[in-house]
Amino acid sequence: MDNQYPVRMKDVISAVFTHYESYDILPEPTTGLLDITDSYDGTWITRGHSSHIGVGFVVEVDKGFIIDQEVISNFCHICSSREKRQLPATPEWMARHASSCNRNYTGTPASMGTEAARRLWSWSTQLGLRYTTYVGDGDSSMYQAVQ
Ligand SMILES: [Zn+2]
Repeated sequence: MDNQYPVRMKDVISAVFTHYESYDILPEPTTGLLDITDSYDGTWITRGHSSHIGVGFVVEVDKGFIIDQEVISNFCHICSSREKRQLPATPEWMARHASSCNRNYTGTPASMGTEAARRLWSWSTQLGLRYTTYVGDGDSSMYQAVQ
């Protein structure tokens, strides 16, 4: 996860802590982590599992706050342009390009929603949260990924 997590999002998470505290639900003392009820959804540029770019987001269910999101893409215009011209992605070139590359996933479009969820769950504790109760629509592939 990026170290420059936006201040506004920190405010949202702080509001989640305050909301749970108003119900006497406090962070677990030994870990400092707050167990919350959440949901997950995503949106993609195109329908039908063919999109190369999308965003998955975690929603705290009681307040409806979007508490985290992950933009995921298996496409980079610059990399694609080089590939079409059959220019090799040498390690030197990739080292220069890596910080601006838009491709942060190499899997299929169909698996991108699940991958975004897996990433969001993997770093939730860095936000001080544990997503212990999931409310969802029965997308079992996403649920299994975050298990
Ligand atoms: Zn690229």
